[in-house]
Amino acid sequence: SVLDECPSEYHVYVLGSPGVGKSAIINQFTTSEFLGASDVHTDTSETRASVSVILNQEESVVELLEENNMATLDEPTDCDIDAYIIVYSCADRSSFRKASQMLKRLKEETGSTKSVMIVANKVDLARTRQVTCDEGRALASTYNCKFIGTSAVLNHNIDELLAGVLSQIRLKKYGQ
Ligand code: GDP
Repeated sequence: SVLDECPSEYHVYVLGSPGVGKSAIINQFTTSEFLGASDVHTDTSETRASVSVILNQEESVVELLEENNMATLDEPTDCDIDAYIIVYSCADRSSFRKASQMLKRLKEETGSTKSVMIVANKVDLARTRQVTCDEGRALASTYNCKFIGTSAVLNHNIDELLAGVLSQIRLKKYGQ
């Protein structure tokens, strides 16, 4: 079986303003239906996790690293990263502006060609929504990225996010 082989290991950076739900999303990944095993470390501010994901009969290990700002992100770091998840809260316009800045910096200054998933988290907060899904989709399409709306508290679209990121990584690695 392919599951007997040593799984590929991928590194994913989870970027976004403090409070948008990065830790909550990473923690929810550990309840995924695709999960083989997981190991999560929550520091004071930044969560780090390793999750084994079995998707299309193939196991991959996804290492997730949370970053509140992009201080440690430069070209050499980008080389070791397979994909980015940029999170904002749709109930917080300033976090959307921050996400836009991070995406612009990543693509234009760092020159990254890695796949990026733009995540609008907290879609459950309908009454206090400040950013529409159309705005999120428009931002994503500016740089040819994928977009998904999630709720970490309701576990809505969290499995789809994890599967989507891994699919994008495999697509870039193996082609279609
Ligand atoms: P981080 O700083 O980006 O890691 O954000 P956290 O994961 O610590 O979440 C910040 C706060 O937002 C916590 O109180 C979470 O419970 C809350 N939160 C995270 N995701 C959601 C969500 O999808 N919906 C709602 N309503 N609250 C959320």
